[in-house]
Amino acid sequence: MADQMLMATGDDRRCLDGCRSEELATGRELGDGAAMRCFSCGKAVCIGCGTTPAPLNGWLCDSCGELD
Ligand SMILES: [Zn+2]
Ligand SMILES: [Zn+2]
Repeated sequence: MADQMLMATGDDRRCLDGCRSEELATGRELGDGAAMRCFSCGKAVCIGCGTTPAPLNGWLCDSCGELD
């Protein structure tokens, strides 16, 4: 039982050295959500900077959101 509980909390595996959106990683405008998806782990990143992990697709991190 304890082992299962530990596994349940391991849902948020991201790049250890930081995420980068597919557009940042490739340097191209790929469209189709590539600016909000990490090139390496496939999880959502901020659509503004492309490097801050995001809880949802299309999300702006605090520093990017304050610029608006
Ligand atoms: Zn990542
Ligand atoms: Zn950002």
